[in-house]
Amino acid sequence: MAPVRILIVGGGAAGLTVASQLHRARPQLAITLLEPSTDHYYQPGWTLVGAGVFSLEQTRRDEAGLIPPGVEWICDAAAAFDPVGQTVTTSGGQQLGYDALVVATGMRLCWEAIRGLPEALGRQGICSNYSRDHAAYTWQALQAFDGGTALFTCPPMPIKCPGAPQKIAYLADDVIKGKPGLAARSTVVYATATPGIFGVPTYAAPLRQVAARRGIDVRCSHTLTEVRADQREAVFQVKDGDSSREEVIPFALLHAVPPMAAPEVVATSPLAGPGGFVEVDKFSLQHIRYPNVFSLGDVSGLPNSKTAAAVRAQAPVLVANLLAHLDGGSGSDQYDGYACCPLITGYGKVIMAEFNYDQQPVPSFPLDPTVERWSMWVMKKDVLPWIYWNRMLKGAQHERRFIPGGGQVRQVSG
Ligand SMILES: Cc1cc2nc3c(=O)[nH]c(=O)nc-3n(C[C@H](O)[C@H](O)[C@H](O)COP(=O)(O)OP(=O)(O)OC[C@H]3O[C@@H](n4cnc5c(N)ncnc54)[C@H](O)[C@@H]3O)c2cc1C
Repeated sequence: MAPVRILIVGGGAAGLTVASQLHRARPQLAITLLEPSTDHYYQPGWTLVGAGVFSLEQTRRDEAGLIPPGVEWICDAAAAFDPVGQTVTTSGGQQLGYDALVVATGMRLCWEAIRGLPEALGRQGICSNYSRDHAAYTWQALQAFDGGTALFTCPPMPIKCPGAPQKIAYLADDVIKGKPGLAARSTVVYATATPGIFGVPTYAAPLRQVAARRGIDVRCSHTLTEVRADQREAVFQVKDGDSSREEVIPFALLHAVPPMAAPEVVATSPLAGPGGFVEVDKFSLQHIRYPNVFSLGDVSGLPNSKTAAAVRAQAPVLVANLLAHLDGGSGSDQYDGYACCPLITGYGKVIMAEFNYDQQPVPSFPLDPTVERWSMWVMKKDVLPWIYWNRMLKGAQHERRFIPGGGQVRQVSG
C-alpha cells in the first residue's frame, strides 16, 4: 500500500514544528515540506538584534539542518492551491498531490502600503526590526541618534507579534537616557493605529504605566501612510471619532512597521476566508470546507495573537486532529487561543504576557504576570531561543506552555 502523503507548505516556525511532531508520531507517513528559503530565522530575536543584544547571524540557521531526517524537502514555493483536486502547484511548475495538507506560509509584509518607505529603509535613521535586512540597522541608527524625535509606529492589526513595535521604543528610550544630555534634547513618540496601547486589557494597564513613567508620548489611532525621507517627515491618517485627519510628525529616527496580510497565493485561493487568511476552525485548526486541509501559525485565520509561542500551542492540537482525520475519525483536541508576548519594557525587564482567546491571562508561572521582571528578560533572551531551537522545532510535544498546567494569577494590577 502506498504511504499516506502529507504536504506541508511553509517551513518556518509552524511548518518545521508540525513536520517534526508528525514524523515523530508516525514515521511511516510520506511527509513533504515545500519551502523556498535555504535559511531559517528566529524572528522573535530580531527585536534584540535591533537593540544590539544579538547579531543577525545568531538568529539564523541553515534550513536543511532543521528538517527532520525522513522528511522530504522541496526547495520551491507554492504558486497555486487546488483543494478539490488535492494538489499544490509550485513556482517551478511541479504538481504535488497530497492526502492531507498543512498550510503554514506565514504573513506577507506589505511595505509598499506605506508610500516612500520601501526605498527609504536602511538610511537616514529609517529602520525596522521587521525586516531581516534592516534589523541590524536599527541598532546603528539608535547609536547615531543625536536628539530630536525618535518615532516608533505600529500598523493596524493583524500583525505578527503585536507587542514588538513598542518593545523597541522602550529599549531605545533606555539607550537615549544612557547618554549624557541626550534625553534633554529628545522626544520619544509611539504612534499606533490601534485604539489602545495593547489589545489585552490586563497587560495594557501596566504598559500605559511604563510609557507614562518613561515620558513616552503615546498617540493612538495613528496609521502611518507615507514617509518623506528627505524632509524627515512621517504622515499619518488619524481617526478622530467618525472623521479622520492627516498629521505630519517630523522625526530624526523612525522605526516603522508595515501592515501585514496573507500571502497573495493563499489570499486568492479557495482556502482563504473573508480576510484572505486560511479559513480554519478556531479550535480544531481544520479547514471548514476541506477536511483534509489544516493550517496554523501566522497565515491561519485564527483570531489569536500571531506569535511563535502560539505555534507552540497550536502544533500538537493540529497534529492530533490531523492524525485522527487520517484514521477516519474527527479529532477532539482544541486550541484555546494561547499566545505569549514577552513585552520587553527596557534592558533587563520583561512583562511575560500570556493570554488566550478570551483575552484572559494564562500565566505559566505562579507569579503576577503583569509585573516587569528580570527573570522574564532571561526567559526572553536565553531560555525561549533555546526552547525554540532545541525543543519546539525538534517536535517536543509537551511544550504547549513553559510549565504544563500553568500557574495562577495572584494579583493583577491596574
Ligand atoms: C520583529 C519580530 C518580533 C517577534 N517577536 C516575537 C516574540 O517575541 N514572541 C513570539 O512568540 N513571536 C514573535 N514574533 C512572531 C513570530 O516570529 C511568528 O509569529 C512566527 O514566526 C510564525 O511562524 P510561521 O511559521 O507561521 O511563519 P514564518 O516563521 O514567517 O514562516 C513562514 C515560512 O513560509 C515560507 N513561505 C512563504 N511563502 C511560501 C510559499 N508560497 N510556499 C512555500 N513556503 C512559503 C517562508 O519562506 C517561511 O519560511 C516576532 C516576529 C517579528 C518579525
